[in-house]
Amino acid sequence: MPSNQRDYRFIDSTISLCPECLKRIDAKVILKNGSIYLQKRCKQHGEMEILLEEDGDYYLKRGDYDKPGSISKPQTEIKNGCPFDCGLCPDHEQHTCNGLIEVTDECDLNCKFCYANSGKKGFLSFEKIGEMMDLFLDSEFGNAEILQISGGEPTLHPQIIEIIKLARNKKIKYVLLNTNGLRIASDENFVKELSQFKGRFEIYLQFDSFDDKTYQDFRGKKLWDIKKKAIENLVRYKIPITLVSTIKKGVNDQEIGKIVKFGLDTKYIRGVNFQPIAYFGRMGGLNQSQDRITITGIINCIEKQLNGMVKKNDFIPLPCDVDRVAITYLYRLKDEFVPIMRSINTKEYLPVIRNTFKFDPEDILKDITESVFCKSKSCCNYLDFLKKLKPLIPAKFFLKSPKEKMEYVSENTFRISIVSFVDAYNFDMKSMKKECVHIITPDLKKIPFSAYNMIHRK
Ligand code: SF4
Ligand code: SF4
Repeated sequence: MPSNQRDYRFIDSTISLCPECLKRIDAKVILKNGSIYLQKRCKQHGEMEILLEEDGDYYLKRGDYDKPGSISKPQTEIKNGCPFDCGLCPDHEQHTCNGLIEVTDECDLNCKFCYANSGKKGFLSFEKIGEMMDLFLDSEFGNAEILQISGGEPTLHPQIIEIIKLARNKKIKYVLLNTNGLRIASDENFVKELSQFKGRFEIYLQFDSFDDKTYQDFRGKKLWDIKKKAIENLVRYKIPITLVSTIKKGVNDQEIGKIVKFGLDTKYIRGVNFQPIAYFGRMGGLNQSQDRITITGIINCIEKQLNGMVKKNDFIPLPCDVDRVAITYLYRLKDEFVPIMRSINTKEYLPVIRNTFKFDPEDILKDITESVFCKSKSCCNYLDFLKKLKPLIPAKFFLKSPKEKMEYVSENTFRISIVSFVDAYNFDMKSMKKECVHIITPDLKKIPFSAYNMIHRK
C-alpha cells in the first residue's frame, strides 16, 4: 500500500451524535479491515471511531432489500433536527410496526442492562393506557399491527389481564407481553388466565442464558430455574413464546446456537430475538461500545455454533428496516427445520412484502384476494410468492379455526431475528429515521425506541 494511502475506504457521510454531549455532529461511514465504522469528531470531545457492522459485505449489500417506508400520522413538528423532534415528526421514514406501552416503571428485578432504568413506583391508569392505544390506532389509520405491553415488569400491573383484553377489544392485531418471567414461573393461575388470549398473542420472554453466572451478571440474580419453570407453565397452557436474548460479547455469545436449538426443540417457542447490547439506559455511561457485537457477529455465531444448519445466506435484512433488523424463517420439513430463504429469492418479492415484522400467512392471502382481479405485475408476484410458500402454508391452513392456525404456526415455523438498537455511539441518522419500534408515551407521542432511551426518557 502506498505510504500516503488511507487505511480505509470512504463509503458515505451521515449525521451522528457525540456520546458525551449528545450534540449532532458530522460522521463518515468507512470500510476498514472488512468491517464498517463510523468516524466522527466533536469539537469539544474529540475524534471517535465506532464499530457499526462486523461484516462489511453484508452492510454494503443490505440496501438491495430496502423498500419505501409506510406513512404514519405525526404528532410533532420539524424544528431542531433528528433525533430531537420526536415524535413522530413528519420526517420519520417508517410507520409504527411495533407500538410499545410501558404500563409501569416497577420491576421485581434490578438488571444491569435495563433500558427502562426501571425501579420507580407507579402504574399507568387503565384509562390512560386506553388513550395510548387509541393514539396508536389513530396514527396507523385504524390498522395497528403489534402492541408490546412492557414496563418495568408489566405482569406486576394489577389490571394486566384487563389491559390485554382492552387491546384485543380495540382490534389491535397482535399483542406481545414483554416479561422477565418471574410471575409466570410462580403463578400458574395467572398463566391460565393468559391462555384465554391465544391466537395473535405471544409472550416475549427475557432469556439470556442457560448459565446462572450470566443471569447474576446481567440481571443481579440466579434465574435459570425460574426461566425453566416459566417455559414449562407456558407450554402447559400452549401459549406461544418468543425468547428475547440480550447478547454481550465474551459473556453469552457462545450460547447463541444453544439458545436457537433449545427454541427449535421446545414446542410453543415460536422464535428467538437476539438483541446486541445497546449502550443506553443503565449502560449509557459505560463506554464499552468498541467491544460490541453486531448483527453479523450474531449471524456468524449462529452459523458456527449450529454447524451450518442455519447459514449466513439464510438471513436477509428485514425489508422495512434493513439497517437494524436481520431475519430468517424456518419451516418444519418432516423432522427437521429448513430455512425458507433457501427456496425463495426474497429480493424478487420486495413489492409484495408488507412493512411489518410479523409473517402472517393470512395477510398474504388477504393481499392476494384484494389484488386477484388486477392484471399488474405485482399481482403475478403475489401468486408466485404464494406458490413458493406452499411448503410453509398448505392450502388446508386457511380452513382451520384461529386456534388451530396458531397451533399450526407454532409447531411448524420458527423465526430467528436480530434487532440492533441505535445508541449515541453508533447513531446514524438514516438508521434512526427508519426505526419501526415506537414507544407510545403518556403525553400521547410516539417516540422511536432508540431515540427514547437515548435522549427522551425522563
Ligand atoms: S427519530 Fe424520527 S421522529 Fe425522531 S426526530 Fe428523527 S425523524 Fe423525527
Ligand atoms: S430489564 Fe426488564 S426485568 Fe430487568 S430491571 Fe429492567 S424492566 Fe426489570
